[in-house]
Amino acid sequence: MIGFDLTEQQQELKALARRFSEQEIIPRAREYDEKEIFSRDICEKAFAAGLMNLGVPGELGGPGLGVLDSSLILEELNYGCAGIANFVGANELGTLPIALAGNEQQQRRYLAPMVAKLTLCAFAITEPGAGSDVAALSTNYRREGDSFILNGTKHFISNGSVADWLVAFATYDKRLKHKGISCFVFPAELTGITRNRMHGKLGQRAADTGEIIFDEVRIPADALVGTEGEGFKYAMATFDRSRPEIGAIAIGISQRALDECLKYSRQRSAFGQPIANFQTIQFMMADMAVEIEAMPAYLQGRMAGRPRPGAQRDFQLRETVQRRCLHENHDRRRPDLRRLWLYEGISGREADARCQAVANLRRHVPDPAGRDRARSIEVVGPMNSA
Ligand SMILES: Cc1cc2nc3c(=O)[nH]c(=O)nc-3n(C[C@H](O)[C@H](O)[C@H](O)COP(=O)(O)OP(=O)(O)OC[C@H]3O[C@@H](n4cnc5c(N)ncnc54)[C@H](O)[C@@H]3O)c2cc1C
Repeated sequence: MIGFDLTEQQQELKALARRFSEQEIIPRAREYDEKEIFSRDICEKAFAAGLMNLGVPGELGGPGLGVLDSSLILEELNYGCAGIANFVGANELGTLPIALAGNEQQQRRYLAPMVAKLTLCAFAITEPGAGSDVAALSTNYRREGDSFILNGTKHFISNGSVADWLVAFATYDKRLKHKGISCFVFPAELTGITRNRMHGKLGQRAADTGEIIFDEVRIPADALVGTEGEGFKYAMATFDRSRPEIGAIAIGISQRALDECLKYSRQRSAFGQPIANFQTIQFMMADMAVEIEAMPAYLQGRMAGRPRPGAQRDFQLRETVQRRCLHENHDRRRPDLRRLWLYEGISGREADARCQAVANLRRHVPDPAGRDRARSIEVVGPMNSA
């Protein structure tokens, strides 16, 4: 029989993150969500507790945690508040391309100091005209002597307006699509960089979600990560690791939703008794509990069982977990979960499958398996740059 029990160390990590959530995140969550507050102070505390920079390799002094360990931590932070957990956890995405493809000098310059003091970084790939379709990005660069000159706009970037350094993706010829994309790492405060916080998200409102404008930004040649033209591959390799973590985030949000629903159903009385006594309410709770109980085992099993990461499989893993969590979520955290549908976009093959599902639906071709796919095409609400 296959077992997915957590090791003692994993249980301790999870318990540490849950304690942090209960003591530092939950008491502030409502206010920070309502007022869209980003707090460096909470980052400082998370940093001191060892809950940040989880993927920084051991050789550089970091914890060098694997994807399951970091998922357990992110699940518990998101149990507290998905917005706060977003700004505490955003370094995971920014550090990955450097850990995966950065040279020794870049790793020593950018990753090693993150272990010594709180440093924030951001991963900037999304643009107004390119989200899921990463190969369509139009932020561009050209060579000038021993520098690169960067122009373009990124948006929806977690910690984009507060990060100390950036990993940004740009193309030298948009017509080359994914083959023209390169990856760069550089300090966030350079001449020609303007950063604004985006306001008015429907969920994860405490998260700092930034717009970054590059206007003739000169970066040195040694800012290039890995090989020129290979940036798309580094981005996808990053998502291979981060997409299962998004599944874990969905579990954390859903577990909290269930706990809040249970609490409320016991407190609230109607017709002379707590509404928890009514069978309809019990059915809803039971359905939520079953899905949430099953998802960690599914996620851990899939992570443990896979011989090597694969973009398509990691994408499906994230989607399956999210879909089940969203399906049964009856609490106000639903908007936070909906935002997760967008995280890191959609993969090419899944996009094709969805198009087919929508076409089948329109043509009334029987396609029970495609129904969920067709329904999952959701569009994020309006956002304003302020
Ligand atoms: C809170 C938050 C934090 C974020 N942080 C970062 C960050 O740190 N760095 C970063 O670079 N980006 C970040 N993003 C951006 C995120 O990665 C993008 O939102 C995502 O890639 C989707 O892109 P999009 O919003 O342009 O949606 P689109 O790609 O335009 O998609 C819109 C909808 O259409 C669907 N869709 C798209 N193409 C197809 C298709 N072919 N077939 C069927 N359906 C399709 C999608 O599933 C989605 O439901 C963040 C987003 C949010 C909400």
